[in-house]
Amino acid sequence: MVQNTTMQVQSAITVAHGDGIGPEIMAATLRVLREAGANLEIHTIQVGESVYKSGHTSGIPPEAWETLRATKVFLKAPITTPQGGGYKSLNVTIRKTLGLYANVRPCVSYDPIVPSLRKGMNLVIVRENEEDLYAGIEHRQTEDTVQCLKLVTRPGCERIIRYAFEYARVNGRKKVSCMTKDNIMKLSDGLFHKVFDQIGAEYPEIEKDHWIIDIGMARAGTKPELFDVIVTLNLYGDILSDITAEVAGSVGLAGSANIGESCAMFEAIHGSAPLIAGKGIANPSGLLLSAVQMLIHLNQTEVAERIHNAWLRTLEDGIHTGDIARPEITKQQVGTEDFATAVIARLGQEPTLFPPVRVNHDPSDSMKLTPPVRGSSSRRETFGIDLFVRWLGSADDLGAKVSVLGSGSLQLQVITCRGVKVYPDGMPETLLTDHFRCRFMSPTPIGLAEIVALQQRALDAGVDFLKTEHLVQFDGEPGYSLGQGQ
Ligand code: NAD
Repeated sequence: MVQNTTMQVQSAITVAHGDGIGPEIMAATLRVLREAGANLEIHTIQVGESVYKSGHTSGIPPEAWETLRATKVFLKAPITTPQGGGYKSLNVTIRKTLGLYANVRPCVSYDPIVPSLRKGMNLVIVRENEEDLYAGIEHRQTEDTVQCLKLVTRPGCERIIRYAFEYARVNGRKKVSCMTKDNIMKLSDGLFHKVFDQIGAEYPEIEKDHWIIDIGMARAGTKPELFDVIVTLNLYGDILSDITAEVAGSVGLAGSANIGESCAMFEAIHGSAPLIAGKGIANPSGLLLSAVQMLIHLNQTEVAERIHNAWLRTLEDGIHTGDIARPEITKQQVGTEDFATAVIARLGQEPTLFPPVRVNHDPSDSMKLTPPVRGSSSRRETFGIDLFVRWLGSADDLGAKVSVLGSGSLQLQVITCRGVKVYPDGMPETLLTDHFRCRFMSPTPIGLAEIVALQQRALDAGVDFLKTEHLVQFDGEPGYSLGQGQ
């Protein structure tokens, strides 16, 4: 469960009723919250389809930001993204604008009520939400080559990894697992792993391990009992959280939290289910469990616990919406409102089949999320330059053309295509494209003037260069990878 960093109970929230089944499940959810005694001052905003269609391409009207910033907590129903191009993802806009860096998704199996591929699954994915390939910095470099920048920063890693450990500590979770692909991406994923080891050392009481993402994801799907809290980068977390939700069998029941330093957003993981909208049959559980996460964030922990246990009891008592109803287990199939009424009727009761949920009620035991340090200092020395060029000839001809660009200690060392060495001594089997990297290295540090001079010589020689990257050592450690085969 998510815990706020402050001890004060905060009651103002922003609510968006969304599209499709959104208004139905939100009405049911708010009724349960009210009846359970949640102390909320609700401010309503409009987001989604109608806002998109009125000309706001991100699906949110400008005036809504003021409400979101004032309340800092957002309970959002699913929305419908209109078909066709030109519409930006509302979720990405909200996450990025409000700095919601942590995406927290509990994945729980409710077997035997809801059949699950792995019974007893109970883990939490903490996904970094802002960086990695999702920074959205893409460039078409040539006719045939596009690139997407994978940005991983130390403050970004520190923030999400500390969040994962604090989450584990406050919520009595025993283990935090890190997943990266640092055997391949030694610098970017390597930084995430390194920060995990550094911050993890501050939590000796919590077990920790690191998995290469491919086997890690496979094991999370097949042996979820190996995991408790998993922290990972944005893209991996996106994929992993869908796999684990699917394996748990609870896609329609799962909630999620998006947490920032000052703001937070809570929503179900499912969409607006337009085909069943307006029929009163949608399951409000995903949104209700998101609201439970929200109440814990707001330090309304007793109410959160009461609702969660009443909800579990409702499932156990066989009162189910159509999406999870099965003749062998369901006693009464109900619609959205009647399901909410059944939960309300069970407030104060606890489940007997599932373990009752216990939320940490100690306000002094809240998360301690120290802000990360920006701009750590180190000795930076440049030893070379990667000159990226567009070229349609052979690698040897390119080698001949650019090797004369070297000057003094700065000389051509290698040319790669898609990261693989093609000059000198390239292999005929290697596919050549129109995008090459020419690496010039110097045994001694060089300055910016030498880099600019090399660019000028390339320009004078008619080399169609696209961009340059500096090859920098930080405190003597190379801040660049070697070419494959180099
Ligand atoms: P969906 O999650 O809306 O529906 C998938 C399937 O699950 C459908 O069969 C649907 O009927 C069922 N379902 C989903 N939620 C349910 C519930 N609470 N109770 C009962 N059944 C439920 O996914 P989709 O059909 O791919 O997307 C529909 C729309 O939702 C699209 O416009 C999509 O862009 C949007 N969407 C929004 C969000 C969001 O707002 N966070 C997330 C995902 C999809």
